[in-house]
Amino acid sequence: MVEFIKDLILHFSIILSLGFMYNFLWMQKRSVYKKQVFKMAILAALLMTMALPVRFHGGMEFDLKLVPVFIAFFYLSRTDSFLLVAVLLLLQGFVGIDKLPVTAVNYLVILILFFSIEKLYKNTTVNKKIALGLFVYGMITTTRLAAMINADKAEGYLYLLVFSLVSFVALSVTIYIIEMTNLQLKLMHELHKAEKFSAISQLAASVAHEIRNPMTTIRGFMQVLQGEKNLNDNQNLFITISLQELDRTQTIIDNFLSLAKPNTGSMAKIDLSELLKETIDFMRSYSHLANTELVEAIDKNLCINGDAHEIRQVFINILKNGIEAMPSGGSIYIIAKVDKNNVRIQFRDEGVGMNKEQLDRLGHPYYSTKEKGTGLGMMISFDIIQRMRGRINVESAEGKGTTFTILLPCE
Ligand code: ADP
Ligand code: MG
Repeated sequence: MVEFIKDLILHFSIILSLGFMYNFLWMQKRSVYKKQVFKMAILAALLMTMALPVRFHGGMEFDLKLVPVFIAFFYLSRTDSFLLVAVLLLLQGFVGIDKLPVTAVNYLVILILFFSIEKLYKNTTVNKKIALGLFVYGMITTTRLAAMINADKAEGYLYLLVFSLVSFVALSVTIYIIEMTNLQLKLMHELHKAEKFSAISQLAASVAHEIRNPMTTIRGFMQVLQGEKNLNDNQNLFITISLQELDRTQTIIDNFLSLAKPNTGSMAKIDLSELLKETIDFMRSYSHLANTELVEAIDKNLCINGDAHEIRQVFINILKNGIEAMPSGGSIYIIAKVDKNNVRIQFRDEGVGMNKEQLDRLGHPYYSTKEKGTGLGMMISFDIIQRMRGRINVESAEGKGTTFTILLPCE
């Protein structure tokens, strides 16, 4: 019994060290070869747990090799987990070749199981991930129990139960630590982005403001000149054009200042269905010019709380980007409907798409791949959605297209 508890504690620590290792590596600011080091750590954990199995009453042995495979599959890559299983089988050949066929079949089934839950696992909450871990462990424990009953080793039941429980707790804690590390990293990243954005927008707003003053002076003098009597027709025309151009510049700056304004001005109930339709109609001629089509499926009476001017700006930015992403034509599909307590608006284009790195940079100030791009459209749009307490999600595949999904709380 003492031996058993000792073994158990040892295995528990081996597995737990994986979680702490992950946290330590991923929190490093310097570039350490975190993936490589973590792979080595997983390999080491596998070797240790296989070399020092937990001995049961009556000569049965168990180890925790499933956990490293689990972590490798869901937190490194499929290839890594295959390699790990290959190493595992090789080792099994050394420590007990008679068990090799059973182990091979077991891990084949486990990998198939992992494949079938992979998508679900990657898109769910921490608690549900732990529940999935429990599900996997439950299956394993059941098969082990069946094997025990078959071999008629009734005295091992309690050991098996305790062992499975401890393994499951070790796996859960490891998943929890890894997930919390990832969450913390994400928050740090968002914070960094938010800081950068607020600094830049403040700076830009102050520059725009500074430009306004000298422009007012110029405009004043121009008006005085226009009042002169002995000007010829050409001079009159030039002054009129100059005044018009100054007014245009003024409007651009005013628009920009209103966008850079830190908080929403007028929050009101908006009929989003109407607003979206209007905006799409407004963009239609631009889209025809670019040989693209806007296809809409918009439910009626979708209402939100917000600033109509701002939300229209977001739609225009996304539509414009979508059109620009399809140089050889295509369609943008716009779907709007209610989703639980939110209005869900989806824009899907068939354009050039973005790779992961580009997707990460989307929304950063001045990030643009276009010759005449400003790299401000997405930054402003993300900010507007965030201030309306909404969420925006972007999925993209290079060469296939991009989907923007916006969720805004219903009014
Ligand atoms: P701009 O349009 O002025 O370049 P944005 O902030 O609107 O600035 O967009 C930033 C960059 O993100 C674009 O230059 C483009 O590379 C990329 N991008 C945005 N939307 C899409 C899209 N629908 N498809 C492909 N790339 C896109
Ligand atoms: Mg743009």
